This record gives sequence, structure tokens and C-alpha cells, in this order.
Amino acid sequence: MAALPVFRWRLAPDGYATRRQLRAQGLRPGGQGVAAQLERPRRRREPLVAYLYRVDLAKPVRPMTPGRWAALAAANRARRICPQCRTDAGYVIPTSLGTCVTCAYPEPSDFPRSA
Ligand SMILES: [Zn+2]
Repeated sequence: MAALPVFRWRLAPDGYATRRQLRAQGLRPGGQGVAAQLERPRRRREPLVAYLYRVDLAKPVRPMTPGRWAALAAANRARRICPQCRTDAGYVIPTSLGTCVTCAYPEPSDFPRSA
């Protein structure tokens, strides 16, 4: 595997973008591999690395179809169902708790006091 071109932070040439920058333009890498990387040196630590993709090889993000919207809605609904009490918590179950807050903290006295 050939070594990737490495550019200094903020000195990336035109025609390259990070995944996040592509997304902001409605683009996705589209199967291409990482084309280059950016490195930001940090004192006494490994450099911070960002991966760059070629904008000319990027593809438009697939438009959402009704089927995809429905699948997304079903997935989000499933993430709101507490596995313990089986009710729709009205919010996404925090993975740190694994259950809805009511199941995780059954006693009101268990809530941390904010004042
Ligand atoms: Zn619950």
C-alpha cells in the first residue's frame, strides 16, 4: 500500500475534503479510499490526523425515499422503547443506562439534586 500524501493542518490543497466537509456539500466518499491525510502536530502527543477524500470522486448523498424515511422512523421508535418496562419513553434510551430513566432510578430520591 502506497503511503498517503500528508499535508499540514489548514494547508490541504483544493479538491480534497474531509468526510464532514463532503457531507456539508451533500456529498459522500462513495466507496473511494482515503486519498490523503492532514496532520496537526501536538506537543508530546501523537499528531491529530484527519482523513481527506477527493471531491471529484465523491458521489451525491442518496436522496431519502419514503421507504428509507419509514425505516429510519421505525429505528428511532425502537430506540425509545425501554427494554425493561416496554413503554415508549418519549426519548432515546441512553445506552449508559440501558433502560428508561424511570427504570434506572426507581426512587425519586435517587435523582441527583440540581440545587
Ligand atoms: Zn423503563
